[in-house]
Amino acid sequence: MPDYKQAVDADRLTRFTRRLIQTPSLSREEEAISQVIQAEMLSLGYDEVYTDELFNVVGIMKGDKPGPRLLFNGHIDHAGVGEMPDAFSGAIIDGAAYGYDREVIYGRGASDMKAGVAAMVHAGAAARGMGYPQRGELVVTCVAREEIAQGEGIGYLLKNGLTADFAVSGEATGLQVYLGHRGKFEMKVTTQGRTSHGGFPQGGINAIYKMNEFINALRQDYELPEHPVLGPATVTVLDIDASPGSLSPIVPDRCNLIVDRRFLPEETQDGLLAGFQSLVDGIQAQDPEFQATLEPLKWFPAMLTEPREPVAQAMLRAREAVMGQAGEFGNWYFGVDGTFLNQAGIPCVGFGPGNEYLAHTPGDVVPVDQVITACQVYTALIADLCGNKAGK
Ligand SMILES: [Zn+2]
Repeated sequence: MPDYKQAVDADRLTRFTRRLIQTPSLSREEEAISQVIQAEMLSLGYDEVYTDELFNVVGIMKGDKPGPRLLFNGHIDHAGVGEMPDAFSGAIIDGAAYGYDREVIYGRGASDMKAGVAAMVHAGAAARGMGYPQRGELVVTCVAREEIAQGEGIGYLLKNGLTADFAVSGEATGLQVYLGHRGKFEMKVTTQGRTSHGGFPQGGINAIYKMNEFINALRQDYELPEHPVLGPATVTVLDIDASPGSLSPIVPDRCNLIVDRRFLPEETQDGLLAGFQSLVDGIQAQDPEFQATLEPLKWFPAMLTEPREPVAQAMLRAREAVMGQAGEFGNWYFGVDGTFLNQAGIPCVGFGPGNEYLAHTPGDVVPVDQVITACQVYTALIADLCGNKAGK
């Protein structure tokens, strides 16, 4: 058994992870962190390192012979800080307050996903130290603008010709192998009423009361499908407002609701809209005054990589080689850039350090040992897929 553990420089990887956390990088403000990553890649001996106008950073480790191209993907921006204290300290602290019985690195982006990026960048160096890739090449993509948009950073690379045979997303999976996630559909529902004086409400039709009927139907009558791997679809409401508003005493004739529906890979936007429309029709059958319109707002595609895909099987082997067990397949509750890689025909699996439920929270931490283990598993994956005896 090759010594993947020995190959990783744990101290240097820990320092690099802390440095990334100490470098603020809100979406569209990634220039500084892109420079930190480029410098690290060059110093680690990457054969090619380049950046672009969005401050995506790409590093390539080439093998001696032709072979498959393995792509690692992570994003370098982080969510807003909110009320998180000392958000960029990158301090190593006791993990007890965060549910860990060991040391963690603290700071915005620790779990989402600077630890994953650091582990991927260092895996290239650890593999090179062991003589990998022997064939093909490793392409480490550290992309900008993931948190704000529909895969803007990775989309830019794909549009400019990025291709690969296999991909790994380093978003937090708690060191489990993930196959994907549900999609997200955001929709606006508007109910119509009729204004009247607030002192004479019976003269109008209150659009808020009409929306209340819709919300009740959503909670009581709306059925959600379930997927064997990705689990149940979910629905919730995110926001509500009414007009003309409370400046003058007037019964509102308009109410808007934002609905968040997490969907399964087999579901379509037309199908989802038809489902909500039949809810509207059902209310209308009971209440002829009820009037509502539906407007699709956002669509983030579901991701599902088949368990039999070579990269999924190789990821299990790599995990077993380092951690002793292949573990079970899982999935994220949120969406990742890997869905755009899948859409581009590059089968992508997830594997990364940190707990996905800490992402975007004030308890954004990652256990030190998970960063190191993730790097070792990535190194084993490079050896597996880009070694001379690949896919054994
Ligand atoms: Zn993320």
